[in-house]
Amino acid sequence: MRHLKLFTPGPTEVREEILQAMATPQIHHRSQEFKKLYEELQEKLQKVLYTENPVLIFPSSSTGAMEAAVTNGVKKKCLNLVNGAFSKRWHEIAKMNGVPCDALSIDWDKAIKPEMVEEKLSTGEYDAVTLVFNETSTGLMNPLEEIAKVVKKFDDVLFFVDAVSAMGGVKIEVDKLGIDMCLAGVQKCFAVPSGITVASISERLLERAKEVPPRSYYFNIPLMYKYHQKNQTRVTPPISQMFALNAQLDYILNEEGLENRFRRHEQMAKIVQEWARKYFDIYPEKGYESKTLTCVKNTRNISVKGLIDELAKYYVRISNGYGELKEKTFRIAHMGDTQIQEIKGLLELINDILGLE
Ligand SMILES: *Cc1c(COP(=O)(O)O)cnc(C)c1O
Repeated sequence: MRHLKLFTPGPTEVREEILQAMATPQIHHRSQEFKKLYEELQEKLQKVLYTENPVLIFPSSSTGAMEAAVTNGVKKKCLNLVNGAFSKRWHEIAKMNGVPCDALSIDWDKAIKPEMVEEKLSTGEYDAVTLVFNETSTGLMNPLEEIAKVVKKFDDVLFFVDAVSAMGGVKIEVDKLGIDMCLAGVQKCFAVPSGITVASISERLLERAKEVPPRSYYFNIPLMYKYHQKNQTRVTPPISQMFALNAQLDYILNEEGLENRFRRHEQMAKIVQEWARKYFDIYPEKGYESKTLTCVKNTRNISVKGLIDELAKYYVRISNGYGELKEKTFRIAHMGDTQIQEIKGLLELINDILGLE
């Protein structure tokens, strides 16, 4: 079946080999075979996340793991750093679950700066902070390392990072940065069909979660961890996605190589961002452009919907702007298994359609 090749920031295009891995016959999730699969995944995920912490597998999309972070990891009050749709979502998740929280909200085209975080945490009101590393809604990458340094100064503050559209495409050294929970769904840079989310869990978070009265049955981290120790998941997991992820991690670690993968993402970002500055502009402030997608500012006032419809005739798909930015921006993802030549071809096609030279 001919399909539209995805240049969208999730889901991303999945290679045939990985789709085939999904078709592996089901195994029972209490079998020895499953334990072996789980153990293998563990070892490989720890390499990708640069961590010795356990990496839990959530049988949900990323939003479920975001919910787990704030329902399990906040005793006092949580600070939600908000500069886009997904970081705003994290604040709403906390509120809706009755978790005490404040939002530090800034304009969506601006990055969260370490000083802002330091000022807020200095009040001593908070025992957790949430950061969306790569805001997929605006193509903005927040300065994770600088913010991590600030959070480290506050002993009892846990650091939760949504790395959904970055993990597996950009280097994130979880242990070095002191991230207590670093989460990502597999349908973005991992280029695996959606359905599971992986998240590293620190010892500190496990301790905290034991002290917090359970707010959730399904997303209960201490209970999930109990099964993790037996190389199992607590509930019936999406086994097919786990096969696919295992195959893809082999490809990432052994065929492409992590460093090469990160480099390819940087190269693609450079190409798309040079093109965007030449013909349009870029939405986020300079210096904070994402390495996995570009949010192009529609300075030519083209019909974004028209462009997307026209691209569909060539069997490719990009994304319009998010929410209110729908026609004001459009987003080109350069993440997952997309290759440099494919990105160049896409830009040429857009130039042809729009008559740009
Ligand atoms: C896609 C995305 C999410 C939400 O993912 P779901 O898998 O739809 O729950 C959250 N955060 C970021 C940064 C994302 O890109």
